Amino acid sequence: MTYIPAPGRYDNAIYRRVGCSGLKLPAISLGLWHNFGDTTPLDTQRSILFKAFDLGITHFDLANNYGPPAGSAEINFGRVLKQDLAGHRDELIISTKAGWDMWPGPYGRGGGSRKALLASLDQSLQRLGVDYVDIFYSHRFDAETPLAETASALASAVEQGKALYVGISSYSGNKTREIATLLAERGVPLLINQPSYNLFNRWIEKDLLAASGEVGAGVIAFTPLAQGLLTGKYLNGIPVDTRVNRPGGDFLRPEHLKEENIERARSLNEIAARRGQSLAQLALAWVLRDPRVTSALIGASSAAQVEENVAALNGLSFTDEELSEIDRYAVE
Ligand code: NDP
Repeated sequence: MTYIPAPGRYDNAIYRRVGCSGLKLPAISLGLWHNFGDTTPLDTQRSILFKAFDLGITHFDLANNYGPPAGSAEINFGRVLKQDLAGHRDELIISTKAGWDMWPGPYGRGGGSRKALLASLDQSLQRLGVDYVDIFYSHRFDAETPLAETASALASAVEQGKALYVGISSYSGNKTREIATLLAERGVPLLINQPSYNLFNRWIEKDLLAASGEVGAGVIAFTPLAQGLLTGKYLNGIPVDTRVNRPGGDFLRPEHLKEENIERARSLNEIAARRGQSLAQLALAWVLRDPRVTSALIGASSAAQVEENVAALNGLSFTDEELSEIDRYAVE
């Protein structure tokens, strides 16, 4: 059946400026780390992507190694892009990354070398079936590669027209400052920083948010729902239908699901209920309370999850009392 995007998809959506750039991203973006590999039926993938696009989500976040198997999320997204979203490329912000293990031998083992980054970007473009991505990321800081080399590879990606903007992921505040300076020397601004950030993981509040603000970069927070822990999903035990029980689900470890965290989630759930929100909606609104956070980068295993999560945008404001109460259950 032919997919026709909802005509009113931009009417109530919220877009926030990325740092000092001219680009805006949806307040909620969709990541394809889980549920877009070959182990998920393409029809399920389609229904998630279509629901997201229908609700004004214009930003889809990928990486070379998303699957399983690695690379398959890009191939599957490319398929949907070609078959169902062909006329909509200019409505989309597609990002990809390089930096973790991808192909055999010393150059495919990730890192930040010019060889690894630019070869990987070419492979990603081919898998996605596009001429350029909107944002190309260095997926992680690589202590074995001079930062100037990583910066130069990112700048080359832009100069070669293979990426419109560049970003970094999981860098420290100081490395953010350093690479932003190196990129600026090449006339390429650092668009965006992609760190983990949620109610149970607040490390970016120490320095990274400040560093990103200083260099004019936006911030897109990954795992804003702590991989599902900050949703109604685990409040009464571990359900069968969860990423913990799917291939690649071992990133959500038993220590994350310890009783102490579940208790915290239950208390946060009560605060959410008083606000007329679900726990997932509260968690997303909380991540977005700081204007330096451009977007919350969610994952989803169903269209219904996307719908619930996007509805967080109906309740973004907090009273000071609510924020202090939330602080009692959030982990510093
Ligand atoms: P989240 O914290 O948003 O977790 C998403 C998972 O939570 C879903 O797959 C689903 O789990 C569950 N969930 C979501 N909404 C609901 C809901 N309303 N009710 C119940 N359960 C829900 O983020 P992810 O960990 O998926 O990461 C998001 C994106 O961030 C990735 O796709 C990727 O793009 C990016 N990322 C980047 C990294 C980096 O190094 N740069 C690292 C990790 C992620 P279930 O599948 O069990 O239903």
